[in-house]
Amino acid sequence: MRIGQGFDVHAFGPGNHVVLGGVTIMHSHGLVAHSDGDVVIHALCDAILGALALGDIGRHFPPSDPRWKDVSSRHFLLHCAGLMIEQGYLLANADITVICERPKVAAHAATMCANLAADLGCLVSEINIKATTTEQLGFAGRGEGIASMAVVLLVRRSRPVSELPESPELRTLVARLDLDTAG
Ligand SMILES: [Zn+2]
Repeated sequence: MRIGQGFDVHAFGPGNHVVLGGVTIMHSHGLVAHSDGDVVIHALCDAILGALALGDIGRHFPPSDPRWKDVSSRHFLLHCAGLMIEQGYLLANADITVICERPKVAAHAATMCANLAADLGCLVSEINIKATTTEQLGFAGRGEGIASMAVVLLVRRSRPVSELPESPELRTLVARLDLDTAG
């Protein structure tokens, strides 16, 4: 299994909504970003890429690339999910913290979890989103932006014995040990 963590911040700027976990939330400001500024998904992507030792989101989606201008960050998450599955891993669970005074996130957490689970091919119960303030301290406390932290655990994708490589020895060993994984 592999563990990864991610952190992201975006500053508030002109606008009337923010996008967090793929949910559009009306707000007095927007977030300054090349993409949609979804700090929840950016931190989650970095955690997944970190667990896979594949660098960070900036390496896969450079802000200098016009293709990613104003794109939905769910596109980034789907890309990271593809890399995860390609490398033989599934998400065991993700734990995400959103740090800001406003907007209030709690009412949207369930929808965010559903969005993230859909993109990652996991259960909603495998994703947790919680929100906190910094008691009006620091940039988040002054209402200058939103931060997010994510931790993920990835596990080897289990495979039925029938999908093991053609090796009678391996199949016999697996049958004897009652294993159902090839990883
Ligand atoms: Zn970001």
